[in-house]
Amino acid sequence: MKYISTRGGMAPQSFSDILLGGLAPDGGLAIAEAYPRFGLDALERLSTLSYADLAFQIIDHFVDDIPAADLKALIARTYTAEVYCNGRDPARAAEITPVTRLEDNLYLQELSNGPTLAFKDMAMQLLGNLFEYVLAHKGETINIVGATSGDTGSAAEYAMRGKAGVNVVMLSPYGKMSPFQRAQMFSLQDANIHNVAVKGFFDACQDMVKAVNNDAAFKAEHKIGAVNSINWGRVIAQVVYYFKGYFAVAKKVGDPVDFCVPSGNFGNVCAGHIARQLGLPIRHLVVATNENDVLDEFFKTGRYQPRGLDRTYETSSPSMDITKASNLERFVFDLIGRDGDELASLWQQVEKADGFALSEGDFKRMHDAYGFRSEKSTHADRLASIREVAQKYGIQIDPHTADGYKAAKAHRDANVPMVILETALPAKFEATMVEALGSQPQRPAHLVGLEDLPQRFDTLEADVDALKRYVAERV
Ligand SMILES: *Cc1c(COP(=O)(O)O)cnc(C)c1O
Repeated sequence: MKYISTRGGMAPQSFSDILLGGLAPDGGLAIAEAYPRFGLDALERLSTLSYADLAFQIIDHFVDDIPAADLKALIARTYTAEVYCNGRDPARAAEITPVTRLEDNLYLQELSNGPTLAFKDMAMQLLGNLFEYVLAHKGETINIVGATSGDTGSAAEYAMRGKAGVNVVMLSPYGKMSPFQRAQMFSLQDANIHNVAVKGFFDACQDMVKAVNNDAAFKAEHKIGAVNSINWGRVIAQVVYYFKGYFAVAKKVGDPVDFCVPSGNFGNVCAGHIARQLGLPIRHLVVATNENDVLDEFFKTGRYQPRGLDRTYETSSPSMDITKASNLERFVFDLIGRDGDELASLWQQVEKADGFALSEGDFKRMHDAYGFRSEKSTHADRLASIREVAQKYGIQIDPHTADGYKAAKAHRDANVPMVILETALPAKFEATMVEALGSQPQRPAHLVGLEDLPQRFDTLEADVDALKRYVAERV
């Protein structure tokens, strides 16, 4: 398997090369040259495998330059009951992403049992091990400079902590994260993890990271890299749990199953699209958004129009607060028949802030041939969903999963199993949970008292030169 760019301007590359890179040189995203396809017999064989074995059987198709035995060992070390031990039912931890039946043909798949209690651990933990392996073989090092308002930064830090050849400098807005999120990141004492609290908002953090990346000389000298949601390694790791969830609920292999996915940057549901391309019998992929409904608008009207900051809202499902959905480019590339020139011209319109509208044919195929549906929620919807799920099923869901619950209800079909992907645990979003349920959410036992641990972080003004000096001194 080799990788090309969605905008058609990159000679085919190997997995290890695109793993460490960001955007392709032509500004596009790396994507597999072709999708392998699993037939029914192959799916039958996959259906009984453990999570790690299943992951190897899928991911191995996408990795051309890591020996199979090494990849297998690396995956086996990643998906263990010890790493994914936050399950409410420890006996099920070995399943990694256990599925709970809410009622007939309505299920919840747990993706938040990793160290930082959000689904980003599913991919990021594998990325940590892949980075360490690939860097050691290339004899290189990388310094990841990122900005976070919560979930991504902590998942990256817990994946990269203690890894040889990797340093992490993670910017976060001073005093803006929840006490739990802050404690999760700042309590890490590993020498290769550097937390920087910036005196400003998240946008200021993001701008500083962008400015560092735009300085090509600085970037090359200090080997600056990223692990953002366009990273192909993350997308391919996420494909695996769609297979696992499918096998858990399909009455027989080959039957249709629907998935509902709380979405922001379109990374999670892009993996669902790829699972479907690989031959997994997914019927519908329901994209759930919050008030930042760029994607709901796209799937309902065929028009993709990223928003300015003036139309971007701070919501109670903050990890879905996006202005544009970076990974959408990969799906549209497939939708329009993998025409890189055409894709490049559409994204030129996106970058000019004009946006674009799909042709009538593509709009129809997006629903009929690719099975996409969508729905949006408001803060009031989230509170109502959290209460309803607690009352009806005795289960606490977080505000992002609540966006998924509402969308799943809107698009359910009594005869087809619907799997809602849980993207975080309630413990991460205490304020909204208290607002909905009137009491503190459950928290995994080993994280009780997290906020009392000693915290280690530096503070910086929102100033690019200060960040450059900071990076140069430490890595
Ligand atoms: C990142 C995140 C999302 C959105 O996922 P995308 O891959 O960006 O679509 C949803 N919920 C939670 C809790 C997240 O952390």
